[in-house]
Amino acid sequence: MTHSETLFTEAQKYIPGGVNSPVRAFRGVGGTPIFFKHAEGAYLFDEDDRRYIDYIGSWGPMILGHADPRIKEALHAQVDMGIGYGAPTAIETDMAQKVCELVPSIDLVRMVNSGTEATMSAIRLARGYTGRDKIVKFEGCYHGHVDSLLVKAGSGALTLGVPNSPGIPASLAEHTLTLNFNDIDGVRETFAQMGDQIAAIIVEPVAGNMNCIPPVPGFLEGLREVCDEHGTVLIFDEVMTGFRVSLGGAQGYYGVTPDLTALGKVIGGGLPVGAFGGKREIMEHIAPLGPVYQAGTLSGNPLAMRAGLATLNAISEPGFHDRLTEKTNAVRDGIKAAADEAGIPLTVQGAGAMFGFFFTDEPSVTRFDQVMACDVERFKRFFQGMLKEGVYLAPSAFEAGFTSAALTDDDIEHTIVAARKVMATL
Ligand code: PMP
Repeated sequence: MTHSETLFTEAQKYIPGGVNSPVRAFRGVGGTPIFFKHAEGAYLFDEDDRRYIDYIGSWGPMILGHADPRIKEALHAQVDMGIGYGAPTAIETDMAQKVCELVPSIDLVRMVNSGTEATMSAIRLARGYTGRDKIVKFEGCYHGHVDSLLVKAGSGALTLGVPNSPGIPASLAEHTLTLNFNDIDGVRETFAQMGDQIAAIIVEPVAGNMNCIPPVPGFLEGLREVCDEHGTVLIFDEVMTGFRVSLGGAQGYYGVTPDLTALGKVIGGGLPVGAFGGKREIMEHIAPLGPVYQAGTLSGNPLAMRAGLATLNAISEPGFHDRLTEKTNAVRDGIKAAADEAGIPLTVQGAGAMFGFFFTDEPSVTRFDQVMACDVERFKRFFQGMLKEGVYLAPSAFEAGFTSAALTDDDIEHTIVAARKVMATL
C-alpha cells in the first residue's frame, strides 16, 4: 500500500468519498487519488515522496507556480498583523483598483470567497437589475454548484431546465434555458421567442469544463449583440480564464465586453477568493447601495487579498503572458507530435495559458456532442501512464489543463518524452 492509499482509506471514514470536491476522487480515471505533502515551483510532491510536474495548478490559481517567494512574503507579513478583522482595510481598495485597471469592463467590483459565490451573485444581480427570472447558459459550461446553474440540456436547441442534481427544485431550474455553446443561431432563435424574459446570458468565454473549447469567431460577438437588442445582461464567467487567457482575461483576448464578469482562481493566488464586477449602473444595485442583497463574513479577507494582489502584480510584469503562452503551446504541440508519431488521433487546442487535448479524429472540437464522442477510455490510460512518468494532468477527460510560469524547458521536455512513451502503449 502506498501512503496515498492508506490516507485515502482513512479519509473515507470521515469525509464523503474521502474528498472535499468530487473531481479529486479520481472517479473519472480510476485508481486512488494522490495525497500531496508539499509543492514548489512547477512540482507537487506526494506522501510517498514522488515528484510530479503539475498541470493543474490547484485548478488554476497557481499561475506563478507553487510557494512563490512573493506570495509567501505577502502572506507572512499579513499573518504578523492579524489575519482578519471583518471590517474595511486599505488592501481591499488596492485589490479592487487593480482589478478595475486590468479588466476595463469592471467599474465596481465586490470580493467573495469562491467562483461559485461570484456566479451566484452575478446571476442574482442580473435578475434584480432586469426584473426578469430566466437565464441562459450553455451545455457543458460549469459555473460552480449554484442551484440555477446546475442544469443540463436535453435534445434540441432549447430545453426547459431539468436539474442535474437532486435537491434543486424543478420550479427553480425551469428558469434556466440551456443552449448549445458556439451556436449563435440557436441563441437568436431563443431570444426571438422570449428575449424579453431573459435576465442574463452566462458563458465561459473559453469553455474549460468540457475540456477546452475556444469560442468560434462571431459567437461571443453575437452574444453581445443579442444582449444589447433585448436588454439582457451579458455575464462572462472568467473564473477560469480571468488573468490566464491574457492579462485582461478572455474579454481582452477576444475583444468582447460583457456587462458583468465573474472571477476566481488566479485572483486569490491560491487562497479562497472570487469576485464579481462590471458596469457601474448595474453594480450600484448591490447592497448597501441598492436592494440586491449579497454579503460575506470573510469576503475581502486581508490574507486572501495579499496573496491575490501579489499574484496580480507579478503577472502584470511585461511579457508575462506571452512567455506563459509560449510554454503552453510547447506542451500542446509536443503532446500532439507524440500522438502523431504513435499514430494516435489527437486534437489539441487552447487559449493563452489553458489547453486541452481530445482523443478524436475530429480536426477541431467546437461542440459539446463532439466532446462527448471522444475516446475517454484512451484518455484514462494516457492519464495513468503520465502519472507513472511523474506528470500530473487533470484527472478527467473534461477538464482544461493549466500551465504555470515556474515550468522550465526541462519540465516541458520531460513531459513530451513521457507523452511519447505513453502514447506508444495506447
Ligand atoms: N466557474 C468556472 C468557469 C469554473 O471553472 C469554476 C470552478 N472550476 C467555478 C465557476 C466555480 O468556482 P469554485 O469552485 O471556486 O466555486
